[in-house]
Amino acid sequence: MAYAYDTNNIFARILRGEIPCNKVTETTHTLAFHDIAPQAPVHVLVIPKGAYVNADHFALEASEAEIVDFTRTIGQICKEMDLCPGDSGQGYRLIANTGEAGVQEVPHLHVHILGGRVLGRMLQ
Ligand code: C5P
Repeated sequence: MAYAYDTNNIFARILRGEIPCNKVTETTHTLAFHDIAPQAPVHVLVIPKGAYVNADHFALEASEAEIVDFTRTIGQICKEMDLCPGDSGQGYRLIANTGEAGVQEVPHLHVHILGGRVLGRMLQ
Protein backbone atom coordinates (compact mmCIF):
# COMPACT_ATOMS: atom_id res chain seq x y z
CA MET A 1 0.00 0.00 0.00
CA ALA A 2 1.27 3.48 -0.83
CA TYR A 3 1.34 5.98 2.00
CA ALA A 4 -0.72 9.12 1.40
CA TYR A 5 1.04 12.17 2.82
CA ASP A 6 -0.87 15.40 3.44
CA THR A 7 1.58 18.16 2.48
CA ASN A 8 -0.45 20.71 4.44
CA ASN A 9 -0.28 19.01 7.83
CA ILE A 10 0.95 21.31 10.60
CA PHE A 11 4.41 19.75 10.89
CA ALA A 12 4.96 20.02 7.14
CA ARG A 13 4.11 23.70 7.53
CA ILE A 14 6.58 24.03 10.43
CA LEU A 15 9.26 22.38 8.26
CA ARG A 16 8.55 24.91 5.48
CA GLY A 17 8.87 27.77 7.98
CA GLU A 18 5.23 28.81 7.57
CA ILE A 19 4.49 28.25 11.27
CA PRO A 20 7.00 28.90 14.08
CA CYS A 21 8.25 26.33 16.54
CA ASN A 22 10.41 26.46 19.64
CA LYS A 23 13.38 24.62 18.18
CA VAL A 24 15.56 22.28 20.26
CA THR A 25 17.89 21.15 17.49
CA GLU A 26 18.08 20.61 13.75
CA THR A 27 20.23 18.22 11.73
CA THR A 28 20.42 17.24 8.07
CA HIS A 29 17.35 15.01 8.22
CA THR A 30 15.68 15.81 11.54
CA LEU A 31 14.01 18.67 13.43
CA ALA A 32 13.19 18.70 17.16
CA PHE A 33 11.08 21.27 18.98
CA HIS A 34 9.25 21.72 22.28
CA ASP A 35 5.65 20.51 22.27
CA ILE A 36 3.24 23.44 22.32
CA ALA A 37 1.18 21.77 25.09
CA PRO A 38 3.77 20.01 27.28
CA GLN A 39 2.61 17.00 29.29
CA ALA A 40 5.82 16.81 31.36
CA PRO A 41 8.72 19.13 32.32
CA VAL A 42 10.51 17.84 29.20
CA HIS A 43 8.24 17.30 26.20
CA VAL A 44 10.08 17.42 22.90
CA LEU A 45 8.79 16.33 19.49
CA VAL A 46 11.31 14.85 17.06
CA ILE A 47 10.30 14.72 13.39
CA PRO A 48 12.05 13.63 10.22
CA LYS A 49 12.33 16.33 7.54
CA GLY A 50 11.15 13.82 4.93
CA ALA A 51 7.46 13.32 4.14
CA TYR A 52 6.67 10.30 6.32
CA VAL A 53 3.17 9.76 7.68
CA ASN A 54 4.06 7.56 10.63
CA ALA A 55 6.52 5.17 12.23
CA ASP A 56 5.97 2.22 9.86
CA HIS A 57 6.21 4.46 6.79
CA PHE A 58 9.53 5.83 8.07
CA ALA A 59 10.91 2.45 9.17
CA LEU A 60 10.08 0.80 5.83
CA GLU A 61 10.85 3.57 3.34
CA ALA A 62 13.33 6.06 4.81
CA SER A 63 16.99 5.81 3.87
CA GLU A 64 19.52 4.45 6.31
CA ALA A 65 21.00 7.95 6.61
CA GLU A 66 17.61 9.36 7.65
CA ILE A 67 16.99 6.57 10.15
CA VAL A 68 20.42 6.89 11.73
CA ASP A 69 20.16 10.68 11.89
CA PHE A 70 16.68 10.52 13.46
CA THR A 71 17.61 7.87 16.02
CA ARG A 72 20.87 9.55 17.01
CA THR A 73 19.13 12.90 17.38
CA ILE A 74 16.69 11.37 19.86
CA GLY A 75 19.61 9.93 21.84
CA GLN A 76 21.51 13.22 21.79
CA ILE A 77 18.50 15.18 23.04
CA CYS A 78 17.96 12.70 25.88
CA LYS A 79 21.63 13.04 26.77
CA GLU A 80 21.70 16.83 26.55
CA MET A 81 18.52 17.16 28.62
CA ASP A 82 20.03 14.88 31.28
CA LEU A 83 17.32 12.24 30.99
CA CYS A 84 19.58 9.19 30.52
CA PRO A 85 19.50 6.76 33.45
CA GLY A 86 23.05 5.66 32.64
CA ASP A 87 24.16 9.19 33.58
CA SER A 88 22.45 11.14 36.33
CA GLY A 89 19.06 11.20 34.56
CA GLN A 90 15.83 9.70 35.87
CA GLY A 91 14.81 8.17 32.54
CA TYR A 92 12.24 9.11 29.92
CA ARG A 93 9.53 7.77 27.62
CA LEU A 94 9.36 7.73 23.80
CA ILE A 95 5.93 7.66 22.17
CA ALA A 96 4.94 7.54 18.51
CA ASN A 97 1.15 7.65 18.34
CA THR A 98 0.19 5.97 15.07
CA GLY A 99 -3.07 6.05 13.14
CA GLU A 100 -6.61 5.98 14.43
CA ALA A 101 -6.07 3.38 17.16
CA GLY A 102 -2.95 5.20 18.34
CA VAL A 103 -4.87 8.51 18.33
CA GLN A 104 -2.35 10.26 16.11
CA GLU A 105 -3.38 13.90 15.59
CA VAL A 106 -0.73 15.12 13.17
CA PRO A 107 -0.10 12.87 10.13
CA HIS A 108 3.67 13.39 10.01
CA LEU A 109 5.84 11.02 12.05
CA HIS A 110 6.74 12.52 15.41
CA VAL A 111 8.32 10.88 18.42
CA HIS A 112 7.43 12.43 21.77
CA ILE A 113 10.28 12.54 24.30
CA LEU A 114 8.75 12.87 27.75
CA GLY A 115 10.73 13.23 30.96
CA GLY A 116 11.60 15.33 33.95
CA ARG A 117 9.12 13.61 36.26
CA VAL A 118 7.99 10.08 37.10
CA LEU A 119 5.50 9.42 34.32
CA GLY A 120 3.38 6.62 35.78
CA ARG A 121 2.62 3.23 34.27
CA MET A 122 0.97 3.15 30.84
CA LEU A 123 0.68 -0.58 30.13
CA GLN A 124 -1.04 -2.76 32.69
O1 C5P B 1 0.88 12.23 18.85
P1 C5P B 1 -0.11 13.27 18.49
O2 C5P B 1 -0.34 13.38 16.99
O3 C5P B 1 -1.40 13.15 19.24
O4 C5P B 1 0.55 14.60 19.01
C1 C5P B 1 0.58 15.82 18.34
C2 C5P B 1 1.34 16.75 19.23
O5 C5P B 1 1.69 17.91 18.50
C3 C5P B 1 0.55 17.24 20.45
O6 C5P B 1 1.26 16.90 21.65
C4 C5P B 1 0.48 18.76 20.25
O7 C5P B 1 0.54 19.48 21.46
C5 C5P B 1 1.68 19.01 19.36
N1 C5P B 1 1.66 20.22 18.54
C6 C5P B 1 2.72 21.13 18.65
N2 C5P B 1 2.72 22.25 17.87
C7 C5P B 1 1.72 22.49 17.02
C8 C5P B 1 0.65 21.58 16.90
C9 C5P B 1 0.65 20.44 17.67
O8 C5P B 1 3.64 20.92 19.43
N3 C5P B 1 1.75 23.60 16.29
